Amino acid sequence: MTTSPAPAAENLLQQLINNLWWSWDADCPDLLSSLAGGQSHQPDRSATLQQLLPQLQLAAERQQVYLQSRTTWADRNLQGLTGPVAFFSAEFGLHESLPIYSGGLGILAGDHLKSASDLGVPMLGLSLFYHEGFFHQSFDAHGWQQESWSQLDLSQLPLSEQRRPDGQSLRISVELPDSVVQLRILRLAAGRSSLLLLDANLPENSAADRQLTARLYAPGQQIRIRQELLLGIGGMRALQAIGVTPAVVHLNEGHCAFAPLEDLRRRMVEDGLTFSAARDVAAAGVVFTTHTSVAAGHDRFPAPMAAAHLQPLAASAGLDVAQLLALGKTNPADADEAFCMTALAFRMSRFHNGVSALHGQVTRSMWSGLWPGRSPDQVPIGHITNGVHPGTWIARSLKKLYTLFLPQDWEYQPGTAANWQALQQLDDQKLWQTHCSLRQRLLHIVAQRAGCQPLDPQTLTIGFARRFAAYKRADLIFRDLDLLARLLQDSNRPVQLLFAGKAHPADEQGKLILQRIWQLATQPPFRGRVVILADYSIDLARQFVQGVDVWLNTPRRPQEASGTSGQKAAINGVLNCSTLDGWWAEAWNGSNGFAIGDASDCPDPELQDQHDALSLYQVLQQQIIPPFYERDPGGLPGKWLQMMKNSIISLGWQYSSHRMVRDYAALAWQPATEFQTSAVVPDN
Ligand SMILES: *Cc1c(COP(=O)(O)O)cnc(C)c1O
Repeated sequence: MTTSPAPAAENLLQQLINNLWWSWDADCPDLLSSLAGGQSHQPDRSATLQQLLPQLQLAAERQQVYLQSRTTWADRNLQGLTGPVAFFSAEFGLHESLPIYSGGLGILAGDHLKSASDLGVPMLGLSLFYHEGFFHQSFDAHGWQQESWSQLDLSQLPLSEQRRPDGQSLRISVELPDSVVQLRILRLAAGRSSLLLLDANLPENSAADRQLTARLYAPGQQIRIRQELLLGIGGMRALQAIGVTPAVVHLNEGHCAFAPLEDLRRRMVEDGLTFSAARDVAAAGVVFTTHTSVAAGHDRFPAPMAAAHLQPLAASAGLDVAQLLALGKTNPADADEAFCMTALAFRMSRFHNGVSALHGQVTRSMWSGLWPGRSPDQVPIGHITNGVHPGTWIARSLKKLYTLFLPQDWEYQPGTAANWQALQQLDDQKLWQTHCSLRQRLLHIVAQRAGCQPLDPQTLTIGFARRFAAYKRADLIFRDLDLLARLLQDSNRPVQLLFAGKAHPADEQGKLILQRIWQLATQPPFRGRVVILADYSIDLARQFVQGVDVWLNTPRRPQEASGTSGQKAAINGVLNCSTLDGWWAEAWNGSNGFAIGDASDCPDPELQDQHDALSLYQVLQQQIIPPFYERDPGGLPGKWLQMMKNSIISLGWQYSSHRMVRDYAALAWQPATEFQTSAVVPDN
C-alpha cells in the first residue's frame, strides 16, 4: 500500500506547473527538478512532496503576487492599449519541453511573451501546435546529420483546450481549396501572457489535413502555404471565437501575413467597407517585424498556387482574387510574379521594422521596390533591435549577485544605464568564482552528453552554437588548421572549442559544415580540444551562454539581421567575439567584447572569409588569450573581469527584451492603437 499523496502539496505543484512562469522564477526550477521523474515511485514522491510543502507554498505565493501585481511597468507607463497585442509567429521558443521552435525567431517570440508579462503589457501569442515539433538531431558514423521526429505528449504539457462557456468543444475552421480544416485551440499560460496554439490533428479532418500541423517548417510549398493560412486566418478566427479584440496585430516575420487579410474580409463583409477602405483600416492596426536579410528566407509562392489558396477568402468578401494577389507583389500588374509573404506583410501593416540598426538599413534597400519613386533612405522601415529575456537567460547564481546592486524589482523593469552602472561594484572574486562554477557545470554536461573525457575546467573555453546556416560560417575558425591546432594545444595557454547547432533538413551546405566540424572534432590534433554536441535546444543554449568564456559569432556581414545568442552571453559576462554584423555592429564599444574585421562590406565572399579569418586569429592571439591567462597576485584575471563587467553593464539592460518590448510599446503598439481609433489613416 502506498501512503496517501499529499493533496495540498500536489495542488500547489499543479498550480505552479500550469503556468510557465515557474521557468523564469529564481527558485522554482530547482524545486521542481527535485520532484521530476518521481511519479513511478509513489511513496517516495509523497514523502518528498510533503517535505517540500513549505517551499511550494512560498513559490505559489510568489506566483500569485506576480500574477496579481497592479504596479507593473505598464500600469505606470502605458496608456491607451484597448486590448491585448496579438503576437503572431510561426514558432515560439518558451521552454525546452515544448519544442515548437527552430531557432532565434522562435526564441525571440517566446522572450516577447515573457517580457510583456513581466512588464504588464497584455499580450496573446498565436501559433500552431506542431504535434511532432521540430526535429531531433543526431550524427551517423560519418558525422552526417540525421533527423527524427517524435510525437509530443499532450498529457505531459501544461496546455488546456479552449471550450465554449457551456463546456462543449470549440472549433474554428479555415477553408482550403479542396477542404475545410477544423482547428481546436490549445492555451498555454506564460506568466500573465497566454499562447494560443491551433491544432488540426482532429478526427473530423482528413488524414492529409491532420498532418498540416504535424511539423514546424515541413518541406514543400503547398504544406507551407496551408500552414500559413491556418496560422494567419485561423489565428484571427481563434481570437474572435474566444471574444478577444486585439488592440494591435503584430506579425513576427512574413509567415503570418494572412492575418490582416482576414481582418480586411471581415471589415468588408461585416462593416460594408470598400476594398481599399477595408485594406487601410485593417493595416492601420498591424505592426510587422521582418527578420532576415537573406533573400531565400522570404516565402514566395507561385501566383497560381496563391490564387487557389486565397480564392475562398476572396469569394467570401466578393473580391476578384487578383486584388488580393496584387498585395503580395512588387509589381501588381505582373501576372507571373510570385506571391511574396513579406511584400504582403509590408502592404498590410503601417509600422514596419527590422531588428537592428544595420538590418533596418539593409531592409530599406531590399524592399524599396514596394515604395516606387523613393530612395532607400526614404523607405518607411525603421528598426527596433532585438533583446533577450533576463529571467530566462541570466544564470540564477549571477542573478543573486546582480540583485545586490540593482533596484529590487530589476527583473521586471526595463533597466537604465545608470542603474546598471552600479554593477561596477560587483566583487571580482565572487564574480570570477561564480563564472568558473558555471563553466565547470557546462563542461560536466558536455562530457556527459558527448560521452568524452572531461574537458579541462581551467582552459579558456569558446562556444559557438546556433542554427548551422552557411552564412553564419561555423567553420571560419578552421580556415588555418595548423595555426588553430597550435593555439588549442599551447601548453601554457590552451584553448578549447564547443559547438552545437542544427542544420535545416534541406540545407546541404549547412550539413556539410556540421560534418566537417564533427570530423575534425573526432580526430587528432583536435580531439579533446573541440567538441560538437547534437540536438541543440533551449536548455543546452542556457548552459552554453552561461558557461563559456567567449561567445564566437562569425556571420558574413551584413547577413545577420540581429542575432540574439550573443546577447544572452553578454548579460552573463561572457565576452562576445563577433563580426560587426547585426546587433554587434551597434553594441560593440571597444571595451565590452571583441570585433572581428571592420564595419565595411566586401562584395567578394571568398575574400571576406579570408580577411575575417585572419582578423579572428589576430584577435584571439592578441586580445583574448593574453588577458584571460594574465592573473593578478590574488590569482584573478583583473583585465578580463573588467571586460566581463563592461559587457554586463553596457549590454545587459540595453539588449534585454524588456527594453525591446518598451520600444515596441512606445514606437509601434501605442501609435497603432491611436491610428485605428482615429478616423485618419496616415499614408506611411
Ligand atoms: C538564442 C538561440 C538561437 C539564436 O541564436 P543566434 O546566434 O542569434 O542565431 C538559436 N537557437 C537557440 C536554441 C537559442 O536559444
